[in-house]
Amino acid sequence: MTQTTLPMIALADLQPVDDGFTWSRTFTWTQGHLIATVYLDTVERDHFQPGHYRRDVYEITTTSNHVDHRALSPELEAQGFQMEDQLRAHLLMVLPGAGWYEIDRTRDNQPIWRYGSSVSTLVLEQKNELARRSRTVYTRAVTFTCQGCYTEVTEQRFPSHLPLYCSNPACKKEATRQKTRARVAAWREAHPDARKKKV
Ligand SMILES: [Zn+2]
Repeated sequence: MTQTTLPMIALADLQPVDDGFTWSRTFTWTQGHLIATVYLDTVERDHFQPGHYRRDVYEITTTSNHVDHRALSPELEAQGFQMEDQLRAHLLMVLPGAGWYEIDRTRDNQPIWRYGSSVSTLVLEQKNELARRSRTVYTRAVTFTCQGCYTEVTEQRFPSHLPLYCSNPACKKEATRQKTRARVAAWREAHPDARKKKV
C-alpha cells in the first residue's frame, strides 16, 4: 500500500529497550515510486569529532530509493531528498519530547542524541589509550581538599591544575559529571544558535 502522508512517529517507538542488543529505529515513508528512510542509529565511530567518542549515543541518517530498486532519475532523486528532509525534520521535532537530548555534534555538525540524560561520558579511543600508556609522564604528590568529601588528601597526580576531587569512587564520578556539564555548557555558550539551526 502506498503511503502519501508523512508517517507519524509515536513516542513509544522512541523509547530504547535494553535487551542486550543495540537498539535502533527505522522509519519509512513511501510516496509514488520513492521510499525514504530515516534511521536513528548509534553514531558511526568516524562520525565523532576527534576525541568525542561515546557509547549509547545516536545520530540521524536518511536514504531514499526507488521502490523497485531501480536507478533514480535526477527528478526522482531531488524528490527523494525532499522526502528525506521532511522525515528528518519530523524525527528532530519529536525526539526531545520522547526524552532525548542533543549532547554533541558530529564532525559534520549534525546533532548527536542520547536518551534519558543530557550527561554522557567521553570514552577514550583505544589508540589514544595506548598512546597515553606508552608515554612516560611523571607524577608528583599533590595536597588538596576534595570538593566531594571535603577531605584533605595527598595523591600522586600527573602535572595539571590543582585537582578538585579525590580518587574515592563517588568523588571521581562527581568529577566526571562536573567535567561533562562544563563541557556541554561551554559548547552551548560557544554555539548559542545551535538549537535554532535547521538541519
Ligand atoms: Zn573526595
